[in-house]
Amino acid sequence: MDDMLDNPTPGGTLESVLRQFDEAAELVGLDEGTYKKLRKPERMASVSVPTLMDDGSIEVFTGYRVQHNNDRGPFKGGIRYHPNVSLEGITALAMLMTWKCAVVNIPYGGAKGGVCCNPKDMSLHELERMTRRFTQAIADWIGPEKDIPAPDVNTDAQIMIWMMSEYSKRTGYGVPGVVTGKLVAGGGSHGRDESTGRGCVITIREALKRRGRSIEDTSFAIQGLGNVGATVARLVDELGGKVVGVSDSRGAVVNMNGLSVPELLRHKRETGQVSGLPDADAIPQADLVLLDADVLVPAALEGTITEDNAPHIRAKIIGEGGNATTTPEAQRILDERDVLVIPGIVANAGGVSVSYFEWVQSSQGYYWSEQVVNQQLEQVMVNAFDCVYEEAQARKTDMRTAAMALAVTKVAEAATMWGAYQ
Ligand code: NAD
Repeated sequence: MDDMLDNPTPGGTLESVLRQFDEAAELVGLDEGTYKKLRKPERMASVSVPTLMDDGSIEVFTGYRVQHNNDRGPFKGGIRYHPNVSLEGITALAMLMTWKCAVVNIPYGGAKGGVCCNPKDMSLHELERMTRRFTQAIADWIGPEKDIPAPDVNTDAQIMIWMMSEYSKRTGYGVPGVVTGKLVAGGGSHGRDESTGRGCVITIREALKRRGRSIEDTSFAIQGLGNVGATVARLVDELGGKVVGVSDSRGAVVNMNGLSVPELLRHKRETGQVSGLPDADAIPQADLVLLDADVLVPAALEGTITEDNAPHIRAKIIGEGGNATTTPEAQRILDERDVLVIPGIVANAGGVSVSYFEWVQSSQGYYWSEQVVNQQLEQVMVNAFDCVYEEAQARKTDMRTAAMALAVTKVAEAATMWGAYQ
């Protein structure tokens, strides 16, 4: 563990997340003991996930659950299925979850998990068997009061239900609070599936207001058309904004007069890709972030805004739908160019906020209407945006540094109250 934390892969997400923490710790004058505690996850688990495949063979996948900190509440964070999942990457994302929950004032700590696999090559039955086996492997460490997984890249409400079902076999009764992001019919919350994208759009709307603009007179480029990106596209369209370009893992399409978003979402649903969309031109996938759009929403994977493309980005606002999308070098370049970056720990915190609402509803067995969920989400997001924006103004710094300063201060306060022996 120590070697990974002391020598993270150069240019990797963990290096970038640790660097942000180190800078924030210095900025807020964190004491040495708390600094050392918060720089290290509480638990890093690697587990073997033997899975029966449809052809009768056994495939052995590797799964991870990293629990960074629980001083402010139970560990909380998504589960990712992707061929690039690694212990180092999951550790970085677990740390970000701690800061994200703190900055939006949700009473959770931070965790993340995943399985290194290619879900696109697996059948539904194989995914179910792998998910159930992975849940067994981490079952001692999760629980509604301990650690609550949620969906992330390539995982969804169905996968959460399988996790809940497998965990509940141990208790002998259904435990809906062990995961969030469930189907509504399985104890989930209205509004959870679109909450990350909705929260992202709220923060972008607030940023636009600060610049005397509104969504109606604004153009958007969206990188990644999955859960987050597709919701952003739909809401922007509903609010009268113009989506001029989108990409996914296979390609990118553009129409500077505005794409038909209902058509785009239908095409993506039916063909599994954005490429081939009628009334749109194909462009190289990497060029999506360079489009002449007012707002850029990176909603794919980590490290897509780099020192190479940052000097050429034309958007004036970046709303990070995804986690750790901007490298520290790119952030510096964007600051110099007066591009307002809403960091992921604020911009995509709508997901964990509604996860929290879902957990509250599951615990009480009392379910809210979609309208109530969205009202509460609006409040959390606007409040978080305001606090971070004002902190950035007061410290004369960017929103990421300000958000990290606020988050680290809040977690350190809780950590100090608990002391070293929680
Ligand atoms: P998803 O699996 O639903 O979608 C990911 C999308 O990114 C897919 O459309 C995929 O094709 C696309 N993609 C992958 N590589 C790409 C590339 N190189 N260029 C362009 N597109 C690419 O995942 P998601 O849940 O939408 O998550 C997206 C990001 O948001 C991730 O960083 C995730 O950690 C973060 N996030 C998700 C949630 C949530 O509630 N789902 C919450 C907070 C943060």
